Amino acid sequence: MSTAEPPTDLMERIVALAKRRGFIFPSSEIYGGLNGFFDYGPLGVELKKNIRDCWWNDMVRRRDDIVGLESSIIMHPKVWEASGHVAGFTDPLVDCKVSKQRYRADQLFFAPVVVRKGLEVEETKTTKSIAKEGFTSTDTEATSTQIKTEDEIIGYVSVLESENTKGELQSAAEALKRKRAAKGELLPLKIRDFTEARLEEITLIPSPATGEPGSLTPPRAFNMMFETYVGALRDDSAKSYLRPETAQGMFVDFKSVVDTGRVKLPFGIAQIGKSFRNEITPRNFIFRSREFEQMEMEYFIHEDADWDKCHKEWIEWCRQWLLSIGLPESHLSLYAHPKEKLAFYSKGTVDIMFKYPFGVQELWGIAARGNYDLSQHAKASGKPMEIFDEATKKKFVPHVIEPAVGVDRILLAVLCAGYAEEDVKDEKGNVEKRTVLRFSPRLAPVKVAVLPLVKNKPELVARAEALYKNLKRKYAVFYDESGAIGRRYRRQDEIGTPWCVTIDFETIEMDGTFTLRDRDSMQQKRIHEAELFALLEEKVY
Ligand code: ATP
Repeated sequence: MSTAEPPTDLMERIVALAKRRGFIFPSSEIYGGLNGFFDYGPLGVELKKNIRDCWWNDMVRRRDDIVGLESSIIMHPKVWEASGHVAGFTDPLVDCKVSKQRYRADQLFFAPVVVRKGLEVEETKTTKSIAKEGFTSTDTEATSTQIKTEDEIIGYVSVLESENTKGELQSAAEALKRKRAAKGELLPLKIRDFTEARLEEITLIPSPATGEPGSLTPPRAFNMMFETYVGALRDDSAKSYLRPETAQGMFVDFKSVVDTGRVKLPFGIAQIGKSFRNEITPRNFIFRSREFEQMEMEYFIHEDADWDKCHKEWIEWCRQWLLSIGLPESHLSLYAHPKEKLAFYSKGTVDIMFKYPFGVQELWGIAARGNYDLSQHAKASGKPMEIFDEATKKKFVPHVIEPAVGVDRILLAVLCAGYAEEDVKDEKGNVEKRTVLRFSPRLAPVKVAVLPLVKNKPELVARAEALYKNLKRKYAVFYDESGAIGRRYRRQDEIGTPWCVTIDFETIEMDGTFTLRDRDSMQQKRIHEAELFALLEEKVY
C-alpha cells in the first residue's frame, strides 16, 4: 500500500536515500562540499550511464538519420562570440548589500501588501420641499454616515521561488499586517518577480536574507560562462570558456560531418557531454547545478521544410522516450514559450515539464531555431555552412530543430517518480515499512540480485554462483548471501532492483527452477534460467 499523499519532506528523503545508498554525494564533501557540484557514487553512475545509453541507442543507433559527435569542452573563444553567449548568456543578478547574498531576480518574488480600510464619513443631505399653498419652500437637512474605503500599502514582502511561493508570500503578508497592527482587509497579493520591480519599489522590498528592505540592488546582467585560460599566458588573448551547452559543437562541426558523406537532409547530429554554467543560485539538489551533463541533438531540415510539423514530431518523440524509461504520463506536461518572450530568430520553443516535488519544472526543451546558429558561424568564421539542393540547384543554410535535455534532470525525475514508502507485511505477518525505487528495468542500476537461500550448503552456493556468472556477462547483477532473505529483498527494493532470484533447496534437489521475486508486486514464482534470460531480453533494451 502506497502512502496516499507524498510526504512534505519528500525531497529530503530522496536526497538522504541517494547519499545513503551511494547514488549521489555532494562534491568534495570532506572539505565541506562545493555548492552546485555533485559526485555520482557506484549506483548513481550506473543509473546515469543507463540513461545515457538508452538515449544514445534510441536517438542514434536505432535511427538511420542521426549520427553522433563528441566535440571538445573548451572551444575557440570566437565560437561563443558568434553564438551570442559572450554578450547574452546572462541571468539577472540581485545583490543583498548587507548579507552579501546573491539572488536570481527572476526567482525572487515580491508583492506590495495592501490593506483596505473602511472610513466612516458623515454626509449631510439637504432636501427642498415646497408647500403647495402659498408656494413656501422649506429646507430639511439629514445627516447620514457613509463608509468610504481607502487602500494603503503597508509594506512589501518577498520570498525566493519555491513549490509554495504564493502561500509563503501570503503568510508573510499576514505577519506584516499583524506587526504593523494594521486595521482593515488584506487585499489579494499581486505577485511579481524582481525583474519587474519599479525603481522606486526596489528600496522597499525586503531582502530574503535579512527580512529588511533597503539592501537589494537593482538587477544586473551576470554572464554564466566559466572563464579559463588556454596556455601559459593569463591575458585576454588566452581567455576561453568551459562550454555552457554542447549544441555549439554540432554547429561548428556541421560541415565536417556533412563532408564525411554519410548524411542527407533531414538529418541530426547528437552529442552527450558535460556543460558548465555558473548558476547564481544552484538548487533543488541536482536539478540546477553548475556542472551537469546534456544530451542534445540538432536536427537539420530544408529551409522550405514544414518546421512546425517537424517540431511537433520531435516533441512527441521526446515525450514517448520519457515514457519508455518509466516516467509516469501524469507527471509530464508541455509548456509553449510565449511568442513575445522568444529570441528574435526562434520560431517556437516547447518545454516538456516534469512534476518534481518542488514544483513543475523544465525537463526538456525543444526549440525551432531557424538557421540562426549556422548563419552566425558562417558569418564569423567566413566558412560557408550551406548545402546544395539538387532539386532546385540552389545553395541554402539548413534550419534546425533542437531537443536539449539534461541527464541529471532526467535522473532526478526518475528518482522522484520512482520513490515510494509502503507498509508491507513481513514473513511473520507484522507490518513494516519498505522504501522502494520503482526504476524501469531499462534504467535500474542492478537488474537482478542473485540470492542463495543459505550460505553453508556448497552445492546451493555453487549453483547461485554459476547463475551469477552467467548473468554478469550481459547484465549488471548483484550477489548477496548475507542476512535474512526478507532483509535482502528490502535492500534490493531500496536500490530499485526489479528482480531477485533465490536459489533454494528445490533448485538443487528438484527441477533446477529458482524463485523469481518481482520488486513491484512482490509476487514470487518459480522459473528456469532460460525464462529469466528471456525476461531480461524483453525488458532490458
Ligand atoms: P533553465 O531555464 O532551467 O535554466 P534553460 O532553458 O536555460 O534551463 P537550456 O539552455 O535549454 O536550459 O538547456 C537544455 C537542458 O539542459 C535543460 O532543459 C535542462 O534539462 C538542462 N539544464 C540546463 N541548465 C541546467 C543546470 N544548471 N543544471 C542541470 N541541468 C540543466
